Amino acid sequence: MQNWTENFARMIKCPNCQDSPTIELKADGKFQVFFCTGCLNGFTYPVPAGLAKYYPGGYWIPQGWKGFVKEQVYKLTQKRRQRWIKKYLSSGKILDVGAGEGVFIETMKKQFSVVGIEPPFSKIKNQHIIKIDFLKWQTKQKFDAVVFWESLEHTRVPQKYLEKAYNLLKKGGLVFIEYPVLDCLESKIFGRFWYHLDLPRHLAHLTEKGLGIITAKAGFKKIDSKDVFALEYTLPGFLASLLNISKVKLPKTNLLLLAVPLFIPVLAVELLFYVLHQAPIGIMIARKV
Ligand SMILES: [Zn+2]
Repeated sequence: MQNWTENFARMIKCPNCQDSPTIELKADGKFQVFFCTGCLNGFTYPVPAGLAKYYPGGYWIPQGWKGFVKEQVYKLTQKRRQRWIKKYLSSGKILDVGAGEGVFIETMKKQFSVVGIEPPFSKIKNQHIIKIDFLKWQTKQKFDAVVFWESLEHTRVPQKYLEKAYNLLKKGGLVFIEYPVLDCLESKIFGRFWYHLDLPRHLAHLTEKGLGIITAKAGFKKIDSKDVFALEYTLPGFLASLLNISKVKLPKTNLLLLAVPLFIPVLAVELLFYVLHQAPIGIMIARKV
């Protein structure tokens, strides 16, 4: 069985660096995660033919009170993203790839001109977001920054997305990538039960080193890379991973009830991960040189 798995793994090519020397299987199941020892990133195999069915309408902002709560939380999370942008830019044009309902755009539009883009199958309601395959998008516009807020991991070939971003940037322009870190401690603890593998929606599984490699290959120079204390992802992520590994099935509303008694211990664990430079979420900023 082991040999068969190894032979099978050898037949599969990494979407980023086609000719990768070794590929290891990381997680088993209907969809598998392979890790490329060439570019040090993971990828999902197989890629489902109809990706759209894995993105229900409520994936972006659900209806009713849940949608309201999610939108408020999203608005709060934009604060750190605004800080990162404003550290480098005081005005200009930003492209938000995977903009969702445009919450980030809404918080930035006073100071910046922001264009949002979503894939064609996206079920968002915001008419101002362009729905098109990013890789096929033809535009004469040039941007001061391209941002991938938790979106690059949804792409099959992140290398190509970074190259496209590079071409759309002005000289000296910046790319911001916020992403789940495949090789963080929490991922190692939960293994294939780690919530942020999010199969098969996450097609790419990035590591800090791996992201450094593919951004450099796209022509960027890394200027910052650090852990993000992103409780809106890590608290529910930890609880969901815990349920996954214990095989307990709870409706999503009960996850909220579970979150109340576990809030303080999980917060402590996430703080520890952050201090140890093992946060499940990371940010990388790179410049077009
Ligand atoms: Zn690779």
